[in-house]
Amino acid sequence: MGFMNAGFASYSPFLKLQPTAASFHLFPNSSDFSLYSVHMATSGYVFDIRHYSVHDGPGIRTSVFMKGCPLRCDWCHNPESQLMLPIEVIKEKKIGDKLLQLPETIGKLMLPADVQEEILKSRLFFEESKGGVTFTGGEPLMQPDFLSDCLNLAHRSNIHIALDTCGFAQPQTFNRIIAQTDLVLFDLKHTDSLMHKKFTGAALEPILINLQSEVLAQKPLFVRIPLIPGFNMTLETYHEMAKVLKRLKNLKQVDLLPYHRIASHKYTRLGMQNKMAEINEPKEKEVNEAVSFFMHEGFKTTVGG
Ligand code: SF4
Repeated sequence: MGFMNAGFASYSPFLKLQPTAASFHLFPNSSDFSLYSVHMATSGYVFDIRHYSVHDGPGIRTSVFMKGCPLRCDWCHNPESQLMLPIEVIKEKKIGDKLLQLPETIGKLMLPADVQEEILKSRLFFEESKGGVTFTGGEPLMQPDFLSDCLNLAHRSNIHIALDTCGFAQPQTFNRIIAQTDLVLFDLKHTDSLMHKKFTGAALEPILINLQSEVLAQKPLFVRIPLIPGFNMTLETYHEMAKVLKRLKNLKQVDLLPYHRIASHKYTRLGMQNKMAEINEPKEKEVNEAVSFFMHEGFKTTVGG
């Protein structure tokens, strides 16, 4: 497709972001991150569309999982989402007493109209439950033009739109897309720049800039905090997060997302290193401590979204 050549390898939008000498150090410079954003007029890569989701916003929702992410979180539950292009894996399937190894492609190119057609299948459930569609990933902002077209179609059909984002995007892109949404689910993983960079591969500062965006301030906001042992599960980190959260007047709730090992098999299947292979899931007591902390600070707090 023509769009794949239109800047796929060379577009580096962050070089246009706040073009001051002091700001350049904030932005990623690895070649992988040069894939940060793709101009797509009419089509984009999606790796799953799930109906009847209840953890990605209010009511019953359809979750559209888009491919591509500028981060590389050690704990990522969807490592198959990270690369923009579809990937080939071998899937084992038992038929009778035979174990077959079958090729499977993760991700496919879709038109916004195809995505909308799939979303509309659950429309009755949206109306009954006050649900809608959630665009997630990966990072949906990696494909802003495709995403924008999808949001337009959903909006025209009066479907409630949530965007689940890591917040790492060029502010112009971020604000343009946020203006098209009804609810934003924004990940806050840490408040310490070095820790953030070490465990996600990306700078924290662009994320904090977007979290304080005036366009975002006009939208209902859920902040989602992954609870990752050895990374952010300390009272000190919670205190720093609470300081950031208290500045957000549009914040409706805090969703705590405890790390789980459910994705371990994906790393094996994809031939990727699982940096969390030896890390246990947080204990119930530790999760409760985090819940108590954020509730005590005055935030409506949920576990799992
Ligand atoms: S931001 Fe989400 S999808 Fe991207 S690497 Fe991190 S956990 Fe995975």
